[in-house]
Amino acid sequence: MPLGRHTKDILRLYLLVGLSMAMLALSFYLLGMRPLVDYLRETHRQSIDYALADGARLLDSIIEKHHELALQTASRSAIRERQAAWLRGEVEREALLAFSIPKLADALRANAEMLGIARLDPEGRTLFGVGEAIPADWIAACDPLHLSQSRGPLIERAGESLRLVYCVPIEDRRFGRVGVDVLMMSDVAIQSFVDGQSQDFTTFAVARDEHELLWWPKPRERSCPRLPFERYLAHGLTDLRLIINSRPLPGRLWLYSIVDAEHFFAPVEHHALVLIGLTLGATLMVFMLTLLSLRPVIATLLEEERLRVLAQRDGLTGLYNHAHMQDLLDDELERARRYGHVLAVVLFDIDWFKRINDRYGHPVGDQVLREIATRARDLLRENDRLARYGGEEFLVILPETDPQGAAAFAERLRHSIETIPFTTEAGALRLTISAGVTVIEGGEAARRDKGTLIAAADRALYASKGAGRNRVSVGELDVS
Ligand code: GH3
Ligand code: MG
Ligand code: MG
Repeated sequence: MPLGRHTKDILRLYLLVGLSMAMLALSFYLLGMRPLVDYLRETHRQSIDYALADGARLLDSIIEKHHELALQTASRSAIRERQAAWLRGEVEREALLAFSIPKLADALRANAEMLGIARLDPEGRTLFGVGEAIPADWIAACDPLHLSQSRGPLIERAGESLRLVYCVPIEDRRFGRVGVDVLMMSDVAIQSFVDGQSQDFTTFAVARDEHELLWWPKPRERSCPRLPFERYLAHGLTDLRLIINSRPLPGRLWLYSIVDAEHFFAPVEHHALVLIGLTLGATLMVFMLTLLSLRPVIATLLEEERLRVLAQRDGLTGLYNHAHMQDLLDDELERARRYGHVLAVVLFDIDWFKRINDRYGHPVGDQVLREIATRARDLLRENDRLARYGGEEFLVILPETDPQGAAAFAERLRHSIETIPFTTEAGALRLTISAGVTVIEGGEAARRDKGTLIAAADRALYASKGAGRNRVSVGELDVS
């Protein structure tokens, strides 16, 4: 059954409300939520920079402290002066050593991070050593002649553990450079810095010259895997799961922060999801409330539509009733006029129907009427219209159908009714119908009204009755 006018309007209304809700949700997302989430992401990302800057300051001060220690050791005035005196030939070498070694050994003991000292004369020859022995090639790397006042750490490897080697010149105000100290430091402070700063999804690491990884946190739970970072340092290959930032440090060192992007942004993603959920929930609620407030209006419209449909139908057969058939015929005539189409009508009437009522009662007659309606409906095309014209008379409107087509339809219907018995509660009954067919040409339609058309069909029907019933007659519009 085609959708009623109101049903279409209501569907359109639902669509419109749904679309405006979707637009509302979309604009809220695009104009409100997306910028907010971007802003959250940005501020979150900035926190990486702050943490890195803080870490760099802290590590800088650790390295600075090491250097201070080295400078202090080298500038101990009593030893320095004695060394100058030795260079002037005023003191024996043994006396210099006997005086200097215990004092530097005390300095070593006082600071756990200092592991060894090697003192060189101005030509770079080793005068003596204190604490852990410093390998000769490390000493050779500190060139006493070209050493500036403050040199950053050289970093050397001894097995797996790292040693920081500071080379510090020993200057005397009057005598100039009297030698060089090579100081070997433990990396404990830097290692514990790297361990302490790295947590959850952030890992701190220190590299030299932006490619040689020196300090990495000791294995912890959830620490970032080392391999992708080493690949990044060696080949510049970035892993999309990592956010990598760096800051320079003294002595060609670089501090890196490596952040696991997924875990890092998880709180922002969580907020975004909550926001999306709230938006959808709110939109849905507005949608439901709108529908709820529209419900009485919609119910009234649907009821009105139902009543209108009922008013067009015949209660017994469900076919269009006489009144609505008039409207349909007006419409079809109008269309035939406009497009110049041919239009046919068939009026048919059950033969000797009164006898059925009289013999088997009205309920059986009703049953027959319903069955006739069903059979006629089954023979129709989509655009054909079937109405119960009166008691046991039916009218069929056949748009764009010529006289032959209309007569053929009427003949098929007549034949079907004659040959197939009607099953009723009184048993199988045989019936016949008589039909009258009339056709109006498109050009003619402008000059004719529907009354003429029906009258002609009626005449043709009575011609069929008069000729003995159970037949189809085609009638002219005008009585000749
Ligand atoms: P004819 O071949 O000349 O058409 O004879 P007929 O008996 O069919 O014609 P008549 O006009 O004398 O009788 C029509 C009968 O149709 C009269 C009426 O009892 C019956 N009728 C009309 N409407 C209904 C209905 O809704 N239900 C039933 N059961 N009978 C109806
Ligand atoms: Mg009849
Ligand atoms: Mg009749």
